[in-house]
Amino acid sequence: MKSTLMRPGGLPASSSTPVVTPLMPSVVYASDTPDALDAQYAGQAPGYTYAREGHPNADVLARRIDALEGAEDGWIVGSGMAAVAAVLLGLTKAGDHVVGGDQLYGRSLRLMAEDLPRLGISTSLADVTDLASVEAALRPETRLVLIEVVSNPTLRIADLDGIAALCKARGVLLVVDNTFTTPRGVRPFDRGADVVLHSVTKLLAGHSDVTLGWVAAKDPALMEKMRIFAVTTGLTPSPFDCWLAERGLASFELRHERAQDTARRLADLLAGQAGIKRVIYPTRDDHPDRARAQSVLRGRGGNMMSFELDGGRAEANAFAAACAGVAFAPTLGDVGTTLSHPASSSHRALSAQAREAVGISEGFFRVSVGLEDPEALMASFDAGLAAVRAGAQ
Ligand SMILES: *Cc1c(COP(=O)(O)O)cnc(C)c1O
Repeated sequence: MKSTLMRPGGLPASSSTPVVTPLMPSVVYASDTPDALDAQYAGQAPGYTYAREGHPNADVLARRIDALEGAEDGWIVGSGMAAVAAVLLGLTKAGDHVVGGDQLYGRSLRLMAEDLPRLGISTSLADVTDLASVEAALRPETRLVLIEVVSNPTLRIADLDGIAALCKARGVLLVVDNTFTTPRGVRPFDRGADVVLHSVTKLLAGHSDVTLGWVAAKDPALMEKMRIFAVTTGLTPSPFDCWLAERGLASFELRHERAQDTARRLADLLAGQAGIKRVIYPTRDDHPDRARAQSVLRGRGGNMMSFELDGGRAEANAFAAACAGVAFAPTLGDVGTTLSHPASSSHRALSAQAREAVGISEGFFRVSVGLEDPEALMASFDAGLAAVRAGAQ
């Protein structure tokens, strides 16, 4: 095509190729003739037509996450919740039943509690650390079971192998939201999952500057259903976000290794300090699922740890205010450490009694450990604890 003020004439020729993926924000792609376009729509010729149907930056990112998860043909969507929606709405029909873990991400729980029933899809919750609880929740019309391997914020570990065997025996799809655990903790496809999804927003992109999701299925027919649902309902990712996520992903393994090391050290340093009631970290000897931390997570505890202060809201306020340099923000997986307080955020809708039942008190904090110098981070936590102790006197 000849270059005009309105149209580029194509890219300059180069016999060498860029080492970084070019950013391609084009919404439409021009074809030479109706025949050429027809061939593309019919799947007989490769290429792109319209960005909602797919674009190069999403595909390049998808292939890189596929490689991490051992998947073939994953699809990028505009957020982690878009991935959850593509699974729960793209793979079910009225009359189906869906089982979810009772400690799923809050919005996933909401989709199950409010939206699926409105569309004629019934739902139940089960304790995924207890196989009998999951088995009891299954019905003849159960279509899928959605779990997270490490729960938020109490870091309990699901009986992944038991649930995978149960789902296989009953002909039920096993869906794993692997956001928290990441493929460095576990690769669910290797353990019997049928569908895996991510909030790429969190650890994979890692810099709290993009909102994206990824979803993949082992069975190409299932993948196609979710892909068509995502395209039809417009769960489209932005090319720029995909480009940024690709940049973040390049350092994912290094970031995760460092954050995990620091999280383990921080957990051990905090345990036993005055003012700390308990520390939760998957590979510690006092963790209720420490055996599964070895068998399922292969000893990789991850970057998340939780702890409980002696005291209530006043102590929690004192700690958060004094823990300098640590953002008090309800997210996870950022390069910087973030602190969240479930009783006032993710779990605020629950009654105090219901929160206590899952072990979340007013003194409970969840920490997403980042890349700070471990000594400096520990000093911030010491300052927080000192403020709690000063208040108690
Ligand atoms: C954040 C999160 C989601 C939702 O992802 P968004 O990108 O915020 O839409 C889903 N599952 C888990 C486990 C999450 O942490």
